[in-house]
Amino acid sequence: MPLPASFADRPPVPAADPLPSPIVDAHTHLDACGADEPAAVRAALDAATAAGVRAVITVGDGLGSARWAAAAAQWDDRLYAAVAVHPTRADELDEAARAELAALARQDRVVAVGETGLDNHWPARGVGAAPALQREAFAWHIQLAKDVGKTLMIHDREAHDEILQILDTEGAPERVAFHCFSGDVALARQCADRGFVMSFAGPVTFRNNHELHAAARFAPADLITVETDAPYLAPHPYRGSTNSPAAVAHTARAMAALRDVELTDFCRQLCATTARLYEVPTAG
Ligand SMILES: [Zn+2]
Ligand SMILES: [Zn+2]
Repeated sequence: MPLPASFADRPPVPAADPLPSPIVDAHTHLDACGADEPAAVRAALDAATAAGVRAVITVGDGLGSARWAAAAAQWDDRLYAAVAVHPTRADELDEAARAELAALARQDRVVAVGETGLDNHWPARGVGAAPALQREAFAWHIQLAKDVGKTLMIHDREAHDEILQILDTEGAPERVAFHCFSGDVALARQCADRGFVMSFAGPVTFRNNHELHAAARFAPADLITVETDAPYLAPHPYRGSTNSPAAVAHTARAMAALRDVELTDFCRQLCATTARLYEVPTAG
């Protein structure tokens, strides 16, 4: 898949200084970054390695993308996959798609079912699957995560309360992560009470995101991961650039500063949490 037109002429985020201890980019879209064949995947992972990012989870957001992510995860030991149909594409989830996703989710290097959840942003603008379809698709993905025993990776756009309510009603899987956590301290507390992991992306580095900063300070140390959601959401001060997995090093540094913790300890904790959550080995 070529780089989305809106990203094609944007500069990449500059390389970060290597981190003192390796971490994982817990959520990215390598296909949308334009790294869609083995050599390009390897180049993106080499750049990540140089920044201290030792593994990357690439996320399928539609059936074709999920199929690609599961295949790409076989190409390189540093790459893992998550598979689902994105809430805005919930209308793609017919019987054939369900059967194929269920098979993909069982593969070894597929470590999560996601991204799934609810997106109230786009439907309010007349784009993407209707809320009722999204809810049904979300419930189906929750059951799939439980059936295959893998982490549920949540996409929550302007839908905090509804998502918690559906998780409580359906019964959450053992391991749940909110990708690109976008809530305040109240949501962080609700997540912490349930043992849900909060994954922070570029927006936590934006200067005026005070509520998100407070949530990032509040979140328990063992319930935090960091991610890029590349090519989207480049961190400050590179907002508007094309994001890449290597750039998660910038976000990790900003988070350590925000929490006023030592960077090496913070990176070790991040790595331990991604290892627990996604069964990604901590070394090698
Ligand atoms: Zn998302
Ligand atoms: Zn994403």
